[in-house]
Amino acid sequence: MKRFCYRCGALEPDAGPLIRGLCQRCFAEEFNLLRAPPKVGVVVCKRCGAYMLGKQWYTHTPGERIEGAIREAVLDQLRVIRLTKSGTQLLRPQEAREVEIAIEPDLKGELIKVRAQGKVHELQSQPKLEETNIKLSVNYRTCKTCSLKRAGYHEAILQVRGELSRDDLPKIRRALESLASEAGAREERDFIAEVKKQRGGLDFYVSSVQLARQMSSLLRDRFGASVSESAKLIGQTRDGRQRFKVTILARLK
Ligand SMILES: [Zn+2]
Ligand SMILES: [Zn+2]
Repeated sequence: MKRFCYRCGALEPDAGPLIRGLCQRCFAEEFNLLRAPPKVGVVVCKRCGAYMLGKQWYTHTPGERIEGAIREAVLDQLRVIRLTKSGTQLLRPQEAREVEIAIEPDLKGELIKVRAQGKVHELQSQPKLEETNIKLSVNYRTCKTCSLKRAGYHEAILQVRGELSRDDLPKIRRALESLASEAGAREERDFIAEVKKQRGGLDFYVSSVQLARQMSSLLRDRFGASVSESAKLIGQTRDGRQRFKVTILARLK
């Protein structure tokens, strides 16, 4: 007697080999390739585009867009289902390399399209093509760095002084701001909170002493400034360490 599919009755020689009693077509319809979460959430800072996954903020730098963050979040929660003789396995996407997965976040439509192609069972003659949508929830919040910036947080003031021509000052300012934004891409707590015009120069309110020192080194190396540093005790941290406000004076000739 010939074996046949218990769902549609197709004979094994025509529609087989049978897998778990089902013909190829019925098996593909019955068994999913993916187990996807119903919803993936991401929190985005409206001011700077940084995004939060889990409890961590990630800076928004070119080439590392929010779509990439969403893909990571999906890959983290998505599972590839594999049926074997011994049972059902749930694999992480990186463990199921032979399964092709495309993840397309649609921010406007608030959904993530996931397409996958692969075999649920090794006896399948054709890889299965499966599409599924995950609901995307995007929430907006101000990130830690932006709240500090908005509050004008600074640990150091870099005073740039000297006999400067009209052209010099914008050039120096651009150089310092581009250094700060490069530093900020590496370390999110590095930023310039404010720039104030002063008689004979500019004051840069800088979030960290380390960044202020890098800025003054640039002025020394590239513009020949002489640099001096002073610190004023302004109180104590909660854990009892002394807190200083550092002022760096960079004098240009
Ligand atoms: Zn069938
Ligand atoms: Zn932000």
